[in-house]
Amino acid sequence: MSLNDIPCDAIFKCIQCGECCNGFGGTFVTPMDIVTIAGYIGADPKTFVRDYCQMSGSRPVIAQGPDGYCIFFRDRLCSIHPVKPRMCRAWPFIDSVLKDPANWRMMAGSCPGMRADVSDACIQRCVREQLATRGS
Ligand code: SF4
Ligand code: SF4
Repeated sequence: MSLNDIPCDAIFKCIQCGECCNGFGGTFVTPMDIVTIAGYIGADPKTFVRDYCQMSGSRPVIAQGPDGYCIFFRDRLCSIHPVKPRMCRAWPFIDSVLKDPANWRMMAGSCPGMRADVSDACIQRCVREQLATRGS
């Protein structure tokens, strides 16, 4: 049975397993992400996409290293944590879950920090609250 009325801070707790930093295609960077991350690592924003990203269709995503992990995942941690991309900061409270809560359960299949035994109503309430808090 799915739970409906549990606090939002109980439906997700990151255990820092690093699974979400593994695999191609997920981590899109916005123009603001590019400027911010480039500044943090001392790179030129103009060449950041060329040197640190791969293209997914027409959009840049952070590149993977040979081990399949994001190139900024080092020593089991995010080396750009204070400026990590909007997508990484927002996870798993993202717009696509608001549109279809089934996405939450799909994401929970690869993220052990997410509880899948909660109701659609609970998921949407919590995502809505988080997005409002973060001004997304
Ligand atoms: S997969 Fe989930 S629990 Fe693991 S590091 Fe990413 S957000 Fe945290
Ligand atoms: S930027 Fe950081 S949090 Fe985001 S995928 Fe890369 S290592 Fe993980």
